[in-house]
Amino acid sequence: MIAAFAEAGHELWLAGGLVRDELRGVRREVPQNAEVPEDVDFATSALPDESERIGKKLGTTVTTIGQRFGTTGVLLDEGWAEITTFRGDSYTAGSRWPDVTLGSSIDEDLARRDFTVNAIARNTSTGELRDPFGGQEDIEQKLLRAPGDPRTRFAEDPLRILRGVRFVSQLGFSIEEETLAAMGESVELLGTLSQERVTAEIERLLGGKHPKAGLDALHEIGALRHVLPELATMPGCEQNRFHQFDVWGHTTATVEAIATDEESLTLRRWAALLHDLGKPAVRHVKQNGEWGFYRHEIVGAEMAEGLTERLRLGKREGALLALLVRRHMDRPDPDDGRLVRRFMRRLDGHWRDLLALKRADNASHAYNDDEYHDRLEAACERVEAEEAAMLRAESPLDGRELMALLDREPGPWIARIKERLSTLVLDGELAPGDKEEAARIARRMGGTTALLAESDERP
Ligand code: ATP
Ligand code: MG
Repeated sequence: MIAAFAEAGHELWLAGGLVRDELRGVRREVPQNAEVPEDVDFATSALPDESERIGKKLGTTVTTIGQRFGTTGVLLDEGWAEITTFRGDSYTAGSRWPDVTLGSSIDEDLARRDFTVNAIARNTSTGELRDPFGGQEDIEQKLLRAPGDPRTRFAEDPLRILRGVRFVSQLGFSIEEETLAAMGESVELLGTLSQERVTAEIERLLGGKHPKAGLDALHEIGALRHVLPELATMPGCEQNRFHQFDVWGHTTATVEAIATDEESLTLRRWAALLHDLGKPAVRHVKQNGEWGFYRHEIVGAEMAEGLTERLRLGKREGALLALLVRRHMDRPDPDDGRLVRRFMRRLDGHWRDLLALKRADNASHAYNDDEYHDRLEAACERVEAEEAAMLRAESPLDGRELMALLDREPGPWIARIKERLSTLVLDGELAPGDKEEAARIARRMGGTTALLAESDERP
C-alpha cells in the first residue's frame, strides 16, 4: 500500500495513536480474540477518490468510512488502514459536526488535531518525522496540550474535551495547565454532542489503566454535571468511620481497584462507578450521630437504571448493572449452603462480577474483608462444582404435568407452584428431578393456590 501511494506520487503519513504509542515506547495492545489489530491511521495528499482507486488496485476490500471527512478504509493483512485526506482549516464553532475542508500539507493537517502528542506524523516513504507542536517533548513530560489556542480548539469540537480526559485514563498523562483551564471554560459545549459519542468516550475512560485520574479530571474541569449529572453530588458527600474518603473518592478508588486484566472489565468498572449512586440521596444522621446510608443500594439500583437508559448502554447491560448495584451489600454466610445458593441465584450467573465489585469496594474501606471474600468465593465455586442441579433450581414438574396431576385449567397457579418447587430444590429440601415428592407437594398446595387464584381474579 505504501508503495502504491508513492508510485501514484502521493504523500502517505502514519499519524495518530500508533505514532504516539511508538514514541512512548509502548507496544500497542491488540484486544484479545480480535481477528485483526486496531485501525491504523494515515494522512495523505491524495483526494478520497484517489485513495479509493489506489486501494482497489491492491485487490483488497475498500470502503468509504466517512465521506464528509474524506476517510477511506483499506483492509490489509495487518488490519484496517484508515486513510484520511489532509485536513484544512474550517470548523464551525460549537457545531455538532465539524465542517471539514481539505488541506494541502501534513503540517496543516497536524494543526487540526486534538493534542500535540497526537499531532506527530511519520512519512511512510522517507521515514521523516513531522512534529510541529513539540509533541515528543510533551510525550516525555506526559502532558496533554492542545495545539494552538486551546479555547478555539475545544469550541471547534467539544468532543476533544472528553477525548482529553479519556487519554488521562488511557495514557496516565496530565492535562497541561492552560489546556485544563480552557476545558473548564468550555464544558457547556458538551451539551452539543450526541449521547452516543459521549457514552463511547466515557466507556473508553473507564477501560483505561488510570480511571481514577480520568474521573478526577472530569470532575476537576466541571464536566461531571454535564455528562454524568447523577454522580455530581458525590464529591463532598462525607461518610463515616468505615470510610477513608467521601463518596466520590471512594467511588473512584473502587473503579481503580478493578484491575485492567480482569474479565468483563468495562461492566465491572461501570458497576464500581455506580455502586454507591444512591448514597448522597439517602444520607441521614443515625442515632449515634454518624452518617448512615440505609437502603442506598435500593435507591442506587433505581438510579442506575435511569442513568444507563439515558446513556443508551443497552437494556441487558443496564439491567445487569442495576442488579449488581442492588446486590452489592449482600453478605451471605459462606458456611450456609442454602444462603450461598440463594445469593448466587439472585445474581443470575454473575456472582463473579459481584464478588469482584465487593472486593474492589472493600479496597478503600477502613477495614479489610479479604478473608470473608475468599471464603465466599470458595463456597460459590463449590456450589458450582458440586451442586449445579440444585443451583439450576428447576421444578421437577412442568406446567403440563401439573395440569394433568391436579386436573385444572391453565392459569397463574402453575407459575406459583413451579416457583415453590424450584425454591425447594434450590434450598435442598426437594431433590432435583424428584417428581414423586414434587407431586405430593403440588397436591398439598393445590387447594390453597386455588383459593389464592380466585381471590386474585376478583375485580
Ligand atoms: P486510539 O486509537 O488509541 O483510541 P488515537 O489517538 O489513534 O487513539 P483515534 O480516534 O483513532 O485516536 O484518532 C486518530 C487521530 O486522529 C488522533 O490521534 C488525532 O490526531 C486525530 N483525531 C481524532 N479525533 C479528533 C478530534 N475530535 N479532533 C481532532 N483530532 C482528532
Ligand atoms: Mg487510532
